[in-house]
Amino acid sequence: MGKRRAARCALCGEVRLVTKEHVVPRGLYPQSKADSRFQRIVIPTCATCNNGTSDDDVHFRNVVTIAGDQNSSVTELWEGPITRSFGKVDGRRRAQDLLALMSPIEQETGERYMIYPARDPRVLRIVRKIVRGLSYRHGLRWPVSDEEVFVDVLKTQIPENLIESLEVAHAEPDILDYRYGRIEDTTGLESGWLLRFYERTVFIGIVFESVEAYRGLQSAGASNIFETELGG
Ligand SMILES: [Zn+2]
Repeated sequence: MGKRRAARCALCGEVRLVTKEHVVPRGLYPQSKADSRFQRIVIPTCATCNNGTSDDDVHFRNVVTIAGDQNSSVTELWEGPITRSFGKVDGRRRAQDLLALMSPIEQETGERYMIYPARDPRVLRIVRKIVRGLSYRHGLRWPVSDEEVFVDVLKTQIPENLIESLEVAHAEPDILDYRYGRIEDTTGLESGWLLRFYERTVFIGIVFESVEAYRGLQSAGASNIFETELGG
């Protein structure tokens, strides 16, 4: 979209030809919310950082809107652009992408399908990109590289005092709302993020001071990163 000019890209920090791109992929918004104040927020990004992500944006939207109860924004998306996207040439592939993420769960009443967004590297990459864009937007360190961000679907209960310590940055609650906070410690963690999409799927994000800081913690056992470093 829009005009190109030479400037520092908000995502990689290189001086390149940049265009203004939405922090939150446009496709996540139904038509009725297309003019929302938050959705209009854009950051300068280069073609390299944007390359290849628009297809992932569509997949991300399909994944985070498919499970659970639907709010009205989700309903509007399913009745419009999502259904249309399945009817297109690549619709069959998109449907297969979704099916690949679902696992049947045996229940007394028969099989039920659960969807696991955190198993999909494309979904996680989009969440990391949103966190990197928001880091720029909120005047935290930038650029933040893709390798400096950890994201996962939130599986544990978060301590109440931690949630309250985070800054509320309600964007558009029925599409995305999020909280964030700087982390003041010496373990290489820089900021923490909670992003909730469509009032249900919650992702946790952690931005590290450097790739080395992230790797150091990973080798120390990253599966419990949240409990060990932020909990309590
Ligand atoms: Zn870039």
